Amino acid sequence: MSLSEDRLDRFARHIVLPEIGGAGQVALAGKHLVLVGLGGIGSPALQYLAAAGIGRLTLVDDDKVEASNLQRQTLFNTRDIGHGKAVIAKRWVSTFDPALDVTISDRRITSENAHRLVVGADLVLDGTDNFATRLAISDACVAERVPLLSAAVGRFQGQVGAFAGHLPTEACYRCFVGDAFDAEDCDTCAEEGMLGAMAGWAATFAALQAVRALLGPSGNMPDIDWGRVYLLDGLKPDMRSFAIAKDPACKGCS
Ligand SMILES: [Zn+2]
Repeated sequence: MSLSEDRLDRFARHIVLPEIGGAGQVALAGKHLVLVGLGGIGSPALQYLAAAGIGRLTLVDDDKVEASNLQRQTLFNTRDIGHGKAVIAKRWVSTFDPALDVTISDRRITSENAHRLVVGADLVLDGTDNFATRLAISDACVAERVPLLSAAVGRFQGQVGAFAGHLPTEACYRCFVGDAFDAEDCDTCAEEGMLGAMAGWAATFAALQAVRALLGPSGNMPDIDWGRVYLLDGLKPDMRSFAIAKDPACKGCS
């Protein structure tokens, strides 16, 4: 597979990077990414993921746009209030780059339907805001052998972790947070607040990690460090990271 003249133009700034190049751009065009949550993380992340030319996108969100979303959910505008996020996101991608293949789901993720959504994907990026959903997605990713980027944000703090719990020595998201949150809906954004640009920082960092993960060991980007969680501090500001070990008692991956 090679890139047409207009695709070469479109991705010229990627292609001149030795870390990506023409081969990397062709590789991205052949990848399938599932983006779960089109909110503060998913909305800016999608703009960079689509711009990166990831050829196949599945967009999942059961919410409708509310006025209070517009402070950070950069895909949406005032006219979108009251409309479904997944439908608007698909329309945005279709206008932005009609060459990308977009599928949407506007059903709420459960442990039952999560498997069907992630099966066969090259990568899942989870930007949802409650632990029950995040754990359901993590368990489905482990079972279907799909790597997972998990991103979250609140107040001035962001968190982006890369998990490959289906591999024998790598942690999953459940190894990181444990089981305690399975039943709990921990949507604290409304109560605690969030600086809009903080969501954008976590989202674009997650998009960068997604490109790294999709290019993988065969590419020229430094390899992603599975099991590593980055903490973004927007107040200081500062970024640090730590490694998560596989929990031998984890009910998700062990
Ligand atoms: Zn685990």
